[in-house]
Amino acid sequence: MFKENLFKYLEETDPEIMDAMKGELERQQNQLEMIASENFASKAVLAALSNPMQNKYAEGYVGKRYYGGCEFVDQAERLARRRLRELFGAESANVQPHSGTQANMTAYLAFIKPGDKIMGLSLSHGGHLSHGHPVNFSGMFFDVVHYEVDRETRTFNYDALEKQVKEERPRLFVAGASAYPRFWDWKRIREICDSVGAIMMVDIAHIAGLIAAGVHPSPVPYADVVTSTTHKTLRGPRGGFILCPKKYKKSINKTNFPGTQGGPFMHVIAAKAVCFKEAMTEEFKEYQKQVVANASKLASYVMDHGFELVSGGTDNHLFLIDLSNKGLTGKAAEIALEKAGITVNKNTVPFDEQSPFVTSGIRVGTPALTTRGMKEAEMEEIGAMLVRVLENMEDENVLTEVRKKSFELARSFPLYE
Ligand SMILES: *Cc1c(COP(=O)(O)O)cnc(C)c1O
Repeated sequence: MFKENLFKYLEETDPEIMDAMKGELERQQNQLEMIASENFASKAVLAALSNPMQNKYAEGYVGKRYYGGCEFVDQAERLARRRLRELFGAESANVQPHSGTQANMTAYLAFIKPGDKIMGLSLSHGGHLSHGHPVNFSGMFFDVVHYEVDRETRTFNYDALEKQVKEERPRLFVAGASAYPRFWDWKRIREICDSVGAIMMVDIAHIAGLIAAGVHPSPVPYADVVTSTTHKTLRGPRGGFILCPKKYKKSINKTNFPGTQGGPFMHVIAAKAVCFKEAMTEEFKEYQKQVVANASKLASYVMDHGFELVSGGTDNHLFLIDLSNKGLTGKAAEIALEKAGITVNKNTVPFDEQSPFVTSGIRVGTPALTTRGMKEAEMEEIGAMLVRVLENMEDENVLTEVRKKSFELARSFPLYE
Protein backbone atom coordinates (compact mmCIF):
# COMPACT_ATOMS: atom_id res chain seq x y z
CA MET A 1 0.00 0.00 0.00
CA PHE A 2 2.78 2.43 0.95
CA LYS A 3 5.71 2.42 -1.45
CA GLU A 4 8.25 2.61 1.34
CA ASN A 5 8.83 0.60 4.43
CA LEU A 6 7.13 2.51 7.24
CA PHE A 7 9.68 1.31 9.78
CA LYS A 8 12.30 3.45 8.02
CA TYR A 9 10.41 6.53 9.26
CA LEU A 10 10.07 5.21 12.74
CA GLU A 11 13.78 4.48 12.88
CA GLU A 12 14.50 8.12 11.93
CA THR A 13 11.86 9.72 14.12
CA ASP A 14 12.21 7.67 17.27
CA PRO A 15 15.17 5.30 17.54
CA GLU A 16 14.43 4.72 21.23
CA ILE A 17 10.98 3.25 20.55
CA MET A 18 12.38 1.37 17.57
CA ASP A 19 14.94 -0.13 19.93
CA ALA A 20 12.21 -1.29 22.34
CA MET A 21 10.23 -2.78 19.45
CA LYS A 22 13.23 -4.68 18.12
CA GLY A 23 13.93 -5.99 21.59
CA GLU A 24 10.36 -7.24 21.90
CA LEU A 25 10.44 -8.91 18.49
CA GLU A 26 13.63 -10.76 19.41
CA ARG A 27 12.20 -11.75 22.77
CA GLN A 28 9.18 -13.26 21.04
CA GLN A 29 11.39 -15.03 18.51
CA ASN A 30 13.86 -16.45 21.02
CA GLN A 31 11.74 -17.88 23.84
CA LEU A 32 8.97 -20.44 24.24
CA GLU A 33 5.74 -18.47 24.71
CA MET A 34 3.34 -20.47 26.85
CA ILE A 35 1.13 -17.78 28.34
CA ALA A 36 -2.31 -19.20 27.56
CA SER A 37 -3.84 -15.82 26.64
CA GLU A 38 -1.15 -14.90 24.11
CA ASN A 39 -0.65 -15.70 20.46
CA PHE A 40 1.20 -14.45 17.38
CA ALA A 41 -1.06 -12.59 14.93
CA SER A 42 -0.34 -13.12 11.24
CA LYS A 43 1.66 -10.63 9.19
CA ALA A 44 -1.60 -9.77 7.39
CA VAL A 45 -3.18 -8.79 10.73
CA LEU A 46 -0.10 -6.74 11.70
CA ALA A 47 -0.18 -5.00 8.33
CA ALA A 48 -3.87 -4.14 8.73
CA LEU A 49 -3.09 -2.57 12.11
CA SER A 50 -0.76 -0.01 10.58
CA ASN A 51 -3.23 1.40 8.09
CA PRO A 52 -4.54 4.97 7.61
CA MET A 53 -8.00 4.06 8.94
CA GLN A 54 -6.32 4.78 12.26
CA ASN A 55 -6.83 8.46 11.38
CA LYS A 56 -10.58 8.22 10.90
CA TYR A 57 -13.32 9.19 13.31
CA ALA A 58 -16.37 6.99 12.73
CA GLU A 59 -18.60 7.33 15.80
CA GLY A 60 -21.83 5.47 15.19
CA TYR A 61 -22.42 2.45 12.99
CA VAL A 62 -22.38 1.59 9.28
CA GLY A 63 -24.83 3.90 7.50
CA LYS A 64 -25.40 6.00 10.64
CA ARG A 65 -22.13 7.78 11.37
CA TYR A 66 -21.65 11.12 13.06
CA TYR A 67 -18.87 12.02 10.58
CA GLY A 68 -18.47 12.25 6.80
CA GLY A 69 -15.97 10.32 4.74
CA CYS A 70 -16.85 6.95 6.19
CA GLU A 71 -17.42 4.92 3.02
CA PHE A 72 -14.22 2.90 3.29
CA VAL A 73 -14.30 2.31 7.01
CA ASP A 74 -17.93 1.28 6.50
CA GLN A 75 -16.70 -1.24 3.95
CA ALA A 76 -14.27 -2.66 6.53
CA GLU A 77 -16.75 -2.74 9.40
CA ARG A 78 -19.44 -4.34 7.23
CA LEU A 79 -16.99 -7.09 6.26
CA ALA A 80 -15.90 -7.62 9.85
CA ARG A 81 -19.49 -7.93 11.10
CA ARG A 82 -20.62 -10.22 8.30
CA ARG A 83 -17.62 -12.53 8.73
CA LEU A 84 -18.00 -12.62 12.48
CA ARG A 85 -21.69 -13.53 12.28
CA GLU A 86 -20.87 -16.30 9.84
CA LEU A 87 -17.94 -17.60 11.88
CA PHE A 88 -20.04 -18.15 15.00
CA GLY A 89 -23.48 -18.57 13.43
CA ALA A 90 -24.73 -15.50 15.33
CA GLU A 91 -27.65 -13.26 14.39
CA SER A 92 -25.93 -10.02 15.34
CA ALA A 93 -22.32 -8.96 15.87
CA ASN A 94 -20.72 -5.80 17.25
CA VAL A 95 -17.01 -5.46 16.42
CA GLN A 96 -16.37 -2.12 18.13
CA PRO A 97 -15.37 -3.07 21.71
CA HIS A 98 -11.77 -1.98 22.27
CA SER A 99 -11.04 -5.02 24.45
CA GLY A 100 -12.61 -7.98 26.23
CA THR A 101 -13.24 -5.91 29.34
CA GLN A 102 -14.97 -3.19 27.30
CA ALA A 103 -17.16 -5.84 25.65
CA ASN A 104 -18.16 -7.05 29.11
CA MET A 105 -18.96 -3.54 30.31
CA THR A 106 -21.29 -3.10 27.36
CA ALA A 107 -22.91 -6.51 27.84
CA TYR A 108 -23.69 -5.86 31.52
CA LEU A 109 -25.04 -2.37 30.99
CA ALA A 110 -27.21 -3.45 28.06
CA PHE A 111 -29.15 -5.77 30.37
CA ILE A 112 -28.84 -4.59 33.97
CA LYS A 113 -28.41 -1.49 36.12
CA PRO A 114 -25.80 -0.58 38.71
CA GLY A 115 -26.75 -2.26 41.98
CA ASP A 116 -28.27 -5.33 40.31
CA LYS A 117 -27.05 -8.75 41.31
CA ILE A 118 -24.68 -10.73 39.09
CA MET A 119 -23.00 -14.09 39.55
CA GLY A 120 -19.54 -14.75 38.09
CA LEU A 121 -16.76 -17.29 38.58
CA SER A 122 -14.39 -16.31 41.36
CA LEU A 123 -11.01 -15.03 40.15
CA SER A 124 -9.12 -17.58 42.21
CA HIS A 125 -11.14 -20.39 40.61
CA GLY A 126 -10.34 -19.26 37.06
CA GLY A 127 -12.68 -16.30 36.54
CA HIS A 128 -11.72 -12.88 35.17
CA LEU A 129 -11.43 -9.53 36.97
CA SER A 130 -14.32 -8.23 34.87
CA HIS A 131 -16.63 -10.94 36.26
CA GLY A 132 -17.25 -9.02 39.46
CA HIS A 133 -13.91 -8.59 41.21
CA PRO A 134 -14.00 -5.71 43.72
CA VAL A 135 -11.05 -3.86 42.10
CA ASN A 136 -12.83 -3.85 38.71
CA PHE A 137 -15.80 -1.72 37.59
CA SER A 138 -17.90 -4.91 37.57
CA GLY A 139 -17.31 -5.35 41.29
CA MET A 140 -17.93 -1.68 42.01
CA PHE A 141 -21.14 -1.33 39.95
CA PHE A 142 -22.94 -4.54 40.80
CA ASP A 143 -23.96 -6.64 43.75
CA VAL A 144 -21.68 -9.62 43.11
CA VAL A 145 -21.94 -13.23 44.23
CA HIS A 146 -19.17 -15.55 43.12
CA TYR A 147 -19.46 -19.22 42.30
CA GLU A 148 -16.64 -21.73 42.52
CA VAL A 149 -15.56 -25.15 41.28
CA ASP A 150 -16.09 -28.31 43.33
CA ARG A 151 -13.46 -28.93 46.02
CA GLU A 152 -12.97 -32.57 45.02
CA THR A 153 -13.09 -32.58 41.22
CA ARG A 154 -12.12 -28.92 40.74
CA THR A 155 -14.66 -28.82 37.91
CA PHE A 156 -18.21 -27.45 38.04
CA ASN A 157 -20.80 -29.33 40.01
CA TYR A 158 -23.86 -28.13 38.09
CA ASP A 159 -26.30 -29.36 40.72
CA ALA A 160 -24.55 -27.28 43.36
CA LEU A 161 -24.43 -24.36 40.95
CA GLU A 162 -28.16 -24.64 40.33
CA LYS A 163 -28.83 -24.63 44.05
CA GLN A 164 -26.71 -21.51 44.57
CA VAL A 165 -28.36 -19.71 41.64
CA LYS A 166 -31.82 -20.53 43.00
CA GLU A 167 -30.82 -19.15 46.41
CA GLU A 168 -29.15 -16.00 45.10
CA ARG A 169 -31.47 -15.27 42.17
CA PRO A 170 -29.02 -13.07 40.17
CA ARG A 171 -30.34 -10.79 37.40
CA LEU A 172 -27.41 -11.87 35.23
CA PHE A 173 -25.18 -14.94 35.28
CA VAL A 174 -21.77 -14.69 33.62
CA ALA A 175 -20.10 -17.89 32.44
CA GLY A 176 -16.59 -18.14 31.01
CA ALA A 177 -13.08 -18.09 32.43
CA SER A 178 -9.43 -17.24 32.02
CA ALA A 179 -8.13 -20.38 33.67
CA TYR A 180 -10.57 -23.28 33.43
CA PRO A 181 -9.19 -26.29 31.53
CA ARG A 182 -12.49 -28.13 30.94
CA PHE A 183 -15.50 -27.89 28.64
CA TRP A 184 -18.55 -25.95 29.78
CA ASP A 185 -22.08 -27.38 29.65
CA TRP A 186 -23.87 -24.44 28.03
CA LYS A 187 -27.24 -26.16 27.80
CA ARG A 188 -27.22 -26.84 31.53
CA ILE A 189 -26.23 -23.25 32.27
CA ARG A 190 -29.13 -22.05 30.10
CA GLU A 191 -31.52 -24.22 32.12
CA ILE A 192 -30.08 -22.94 35.37
CA CYS A 193 -30.46 -19.31 34.21
CA ASP A 194 -34.03 -19.99 33.06
CA SER A 195 -34.93 -21.43 36.46
CA VAL A 196 -34.63 -17.89 37.93
CA GLY A 197 -35.10 -15.77 34.79
CA ALA A 198 -31.45 -14.64 34.74
CA ILE A 199 -29.71 -13.23 31.68
CA MET A 200 -27.12 -15.72 30.42
CA MET A 201 -23.90 -13.95 29.46
CA VAL A 202 -20.94 -15.99 28.23
CA ASP A 203 -17.42 -14.60 27.95
CA ILE A 204 -15.45 -16.73 25.46
CA ALA A 205 -12.30 -14.55 25.49
CA HIS A 206 -10.00 -17.55 25.90
CA ILE A 207 -11.77 -20.19 23.85
CA ALA A 208 -13.13 -18.17 20.92
CA GLY A 209 -10.70 -19.72 18.43
CA LEU A 210 -11.52 -23.23 19.62
CA ILE A 211 -15.24 -22.54 19.30
CA ALA A 212 -14.86 -21.00 15.83
CA ALA A 213 -13.05 -24.16 14.72
CA GLY A 214 -15.59 -26.49 16.33
CA VAL A 215 -13.21 -28.06 18.86
CA HIS A 216 -15.09 -26.62 21.85
CA PRO A 217 -18.92 -26.53 22.21
CA SER A 218 -20.44 -23.18 21.25
CA PRO A 219 -22.59 -21.16 23.67
CA VAL A 220 -24.04 -19.06 20.81
CA PRO A 221 -27.28 -21.09 20.47
CA TYR A 222 -27.95 -20.75 24.23
CA ALA A 223 -26.67 -17.41 25.48
CA ASP A 224 -28.44 -14.04 25.57
CA VAL A 225 -25.11 -12.38 24.93
CA VAL A 226 -21.59 -13.64 24.13
CA THR A 227 -18.50 -11.47 24.61
CA SER A 228 -14.92 -12.14 23.58
CA THR A 229 -11.46 -10.87 22.86
CA THR A 230 -9.95 -11.25 19.38
CA HIS A 231 -6.28 -11.69 20.35
CA LYS A 232 -6.15 -14.93 22.34
CA THR A 233 -6.88 -18.28 20.64
CA LEU A 234 -8.62 -16.35 17.84
CA ARG A 235 -5.17 -14.93 16.91
CA GLY A 236 -6.27 -11.49 15.74
CA PRO A 237 -5.48 -7.91 16.76
CA ARG A 238 -6.02 -6.83 20.39
CA GLY A 239 -9.73 -6.15 20.74
CA GLY A 240 -13.18 -7.41 21.61
CA PHE A 241 -16.57 -8.23 20.11
CA ILE A 242 -20.14 -9.03 21.15
CA LEU A 243 -22.62 -11.51 19.67
CA CYS A 244 -26.33 -11.60 20.43
CA PRO A 245 -29.72 -12.57 18.99
CA LYS A 246 -31.36 -9.93 16.80
CA LYS A 247 -33.78 -8.87 19.52
CA TYR A 248 -30.87 -7.46 21.58
CA LYS A 249 -28.92 -5.92 18.71
CA LYS A 250 -30.21 -2.37 19.15
CA SER A 251 -29.62 -2.30 22.85
CA ILE A 252 -26.08 -3.78 22.57
CA ASN A 253 -25.12 -1.32 19.83
CA LYS A 254 -26.48 1.68 21.72
CA THR A 255 -24.84 0.63 24.95
CA ASN A 256 -21.42 0.21 23.30
CA PHE A 257 -21.66 3.57 21.52
CA PRO A 258 -22.48 6.09 22.92
CA GLY A 259 -22.91 4.15 26.18
CA THR A 260 -19.42 2.93 27.07
CA GLN A 261 -17.11 3.99 24.22
CA GLY A 262 -16.41 6.85 21.87
CA GLY A 263 -14.96 6.51 18.38
CA PRO A 264 -14.21 2.98 17.20
CA PHE A 265 -10.63 1.97 16.30
CA MET A 266 -11.25 1.50 12.58
CA HIS A 267 -7.75 0.17 11.82
CA VAL A 268 -8.27 -2.48 14.49
CA ILE A 269 -11.70 -3.31 13.04
CA ALA A 270 -10.01 -3.81 9.64
CA ALA A 271 -7.51 -6.14 11.31
CA LYS A 272 -10.38 -7.99 13.05
CA ALA A 273 -11.96 -8.57 9.62
CA VAL A 274 -8.68 -10.11 8.46
CA CYS A 275 -8.56 -12.31 11.55
CA PHE A 276 -12.16 -13.53 10.98
CA LYS A 277 -11.35 -14.35 7.36
CA GLU A 278 -8.33 -16.37 8.45
CA ALA A 279 -10.46 -18.12 11.07
CA MET A 280 -12.84 -19.43 8.39
CA THR A 281 -10.13 -21.45 6.65
CA GLU A 282 -9.47 -25.17 6.86
CA GLU A 283 -5.92 -24.33 8.00
CA PHE A 284 -7.30 -22.52 11.04
CA LYS A 285 -9.41 -25.55 11.99
CA GLU A 286 -6.33 -27.75 11.73
CA TYR A 287 -4.42 -25.22 13.82
CA GLN A 288 -7.01 -25.29 16.63
CA LYS A 289 -7.10 -29.10 16.62
CA GLN A 290 -3.34 -29.06 16.99
CA VAL A 291 -3.53 -26.52 19.84
CA VAL A 292 -5.75 -28.93 21.77
CA ALA A 293 -3.69 -32.00 20.82
CA ASN A 294 -0.54 -30.20 21.98
CA ALA A 295 -2.08 -29.16 25.31
CA SER A 296 -3.28 -32.69 25.89
CA LYS A 297 0.14 -34.17 25.06
CA LEU A 298 2.03 -31.76 27.26
CA ALA A 299 -0.44 -32.17 30.12
CA SER A 300 -0.04 -35.97 29.99
CA TYR A 301 3.74 -35.67 29.98
CA VAL A 302 3.79 -33.43 33.03
CA MET A 303 1.32 -35.67 34.93
CA ASP A 304 3.28 -38.80 34.02
CA HIS A 305 6.27 -37.14 35.68
CA GLY A 306 4.54 -36.67 38.99
CA PHE A 307 2.93 -33.25 38.75
CA GLU A 308 -0.65 -32.58 39.74
CA LEU A 309 -2.96 -30.85 37.29
CA VAL A 310 -6.10 -29.01 38.36
CA SER A 311 -9.03 -31.29 37.39
CA GLY A 312 -6.52 -33.94 36.30
CA GLY A 313 -6.03 -32.75 32.73
CA THR A 314 -7.44 -30.53 30.02
CA ASP A 315 -10.09 -30.37 27.26
CA ASN A 316 -8.83 -27.12 25.76
CA HIS A 317 -5.72 -25.03 25.07
CA LEU A 318 -4.46 -24.69 28.64
CA PHE A 319 -3.84 -26.49 31.90
CA LEU A 320 -2.93 -25.54 35.45
CA ILE A 321 -0.10 -27.22 37.33
CA ASP A 322 -0.76 -27.28 41.08
CA LEU A 323 2.67 -27.10 42.71
CA SER A 324 1.47 -27.12 46.32
CA ASN A 325 2.19 -30.84 46.86
CA LYS A 326 5.78 -30.18 45.73
CA GLY A 327 6.25 -27.34 48.21
CA LEU A 328 6.77 -24.89 45.33
CA THR A 329 5.06 -21.60 44.53
CA GLY A 330 3.81 -20.28 41.21
CA LYS A 331 5.89 -17.14 41.66
CA ALA A 332 9.17 -19.02 42.02
CA ALA A 333 8.28 -21.34 39.13
CA GLU A 334 7.45 -18.43 36.83
CA ILE A 335 10.83 -16.82 37.58
CA ALA A 336 12.84 -20.03 37.13
CA LEU A 337 11.07 -20.88 33.87
CA GLU A 338 11.65 -17.39 32.52
CA LYS A 339 15.38 -17.79 33.19
CA ALA A 340 15.15 -21.02 31.21
CA GLY A 341 13.50 -19.27 28.25
CA ILE A 342 9.97 -20.54 28.90
CA THR A 343 7.32 -17.87 29.52
CA VAL A 344 4.30 -18.85 31.65
CA ASN A 345 2.33 -17.05 34.34
CA LYS A 346 1.84 -17.83 37.97
CA ASN A 347 -1.83 -18.55 38.66
CA THR A 348 -3.96 -19.27 41.68
CA VAL A 349 -5.43 -22.76 41.83
CA PRO A 350 -8.91 -23.36 43.31
CA PHE A 351 -8.81 -23.14 47.14
CA ASP A 352 -5.27 -21.75 46.93
CA GLU A 353 -3.61 -21.10 50.26
CA GLN A 354 -1.06 -18.69 48.80
CA SER A 355 -1.78 -15.04 48.00
CA PRO A 356 -2.52 -14.00 44.37
CA PHE A 357 1.00 -12.50 44.23
CA VAL A 358 2.61 -15.82 45.14
CA THR A 359 0.09 -18.54 44.14
CA SER A 360 0.44 -22.32 44.12
CA GLY A 361 0.11 -22.79 40.39
CA ILE A 362 1.24 -21.96 36.91
CA ARG A 363 -0.97 -21.70 33.85
CA VAL A 364 0.43 -23.27 30.70
CA GLY A 365 -1.02 -22.79 27.21
CA THR A 366 -0.19 -24.01 23.71
CA PRO A 367 -1.77 -21.48 21.26
CA ALA A 368 1.40 -19.45 20.59
CA LEU A 369 3.78 -22.41 20.18
CA THR A 370 1.29 -24.12 17.89
CA THR A 371 1.20 -21.00 15.70
CA ARG A 372 4.95 -21.45 15.24
CA GLY A 373 4.26 -24.95 13.90
CA MET A 374 5.15 -27.07 16.92
CA LYS A 375 3.48 -30.46 17.30
CA GLU A 376 3.41 -33.42 19.72
CA ALA A 377 7.13 -34.23 19.31
CA GLU A 378 8.08 -30.71 20.43
CA MET A 379 5.61 -30.95 23.32
CA GLU A 380 7.58 -33.96 24.60
CA GLU A 381 10.79 -31.94 24.44
CA ILE A 382 9.18 -28.98 26.18
CA GLY A 383 7.60 -31.27 28.77
CA ALA A 384 11.06 -32.57 29.62
CA MET A 385 12.35 -28.99 29.95
CA LEU A 386 9.44 -27.97 32.17
CA VAL A 387 9.93 -30.93 34.48
CA ARG A 388 13.69 -30.40 34.61
CA VAL A 389 13.30 -26.75 35.60
CA LEU A 390 10.55 -27.38 38.15
CA GLU A 391 12.65 -30.09 39.80
CA ASN A 392 15.83 -27.96 39.84
CA MET A 393 14.60 -24.42 40.34
CA GLU A 394 17.61 -23.29 42.37
CA ASP A 395 20.23 -24.80 40.07
CA GLU A 396 21.53 -22.03 37.80
CA ASN A 397 23.46 -24.53 35.66
CA VAL A 398 20.27 -26.41 34.85
CA LEU A 399 18.46 -23.17 34.02
CA THR A 400 21.27 -22.10 31.68
CA GLU A 401 21.32 -25.49 30.00
CA VAL A 402 17.55 -25.47 29.44
CA ARG A 403 17.80 -21.86 28.24
CA LYS A 404 20.13 -23.04 25.46
CA LYS A 405 17.72 -25.79 24.47
CA SER A 406 14.63 -23.62 24.50
CA PHE A 407 16.46 -21.00 22.41
CA GLU A 408 17.46 -23.62 19.82
CA LEU A 409 13.94 -25.04 19.68
CA ALA A 410 12.41 -21.57 19.31
CA ARG A 411 14.83 -20.63 16.53
CA SER A 412 14.07 -23.81 14.60
CA PHE A 413 10.41 -22.66 14.34
CA PRO A 414 10.93 -19.20 12.83
CA LEU A 415 8.57 -16.37 13.73
CA TYR A 416 8.16 -13.16 11.65
CA GLU A 417 11.37 -13.84 9.69
C1 LIG B 1 -8.60 -11.87 28.73
C2 LIG B 1 -9.98 -11.91 29.24
C3 LIG B 1 -10.78 -10.76 29.24
C4 LIG B 1 -10.26 -9.37 29.03
O1 LIG B 1 -9.69 -9.04 27.90
P1 LIG B 1 -8.90 -7.65 27.76
O2 LIG B 1 -8.86 -7.50 26.27
O3 LIG B 1 -7.58 -7.85 28.40
O4 LIG B 1 -9.72 -6.59 28.40
C5 LIG B 1 -12.10 -10.88 29.63
N1 LIG B 1 -12.61 -12.05 30.00
C6 LIG B 1 -11.87 -13.17 30.02
C7 LIG B 1 -12.50 -14.45 30.45
C8 LIG B 1 -10.53 -13.13 29.67
O5 LIG B 1 -9.79 -14.24 29.75
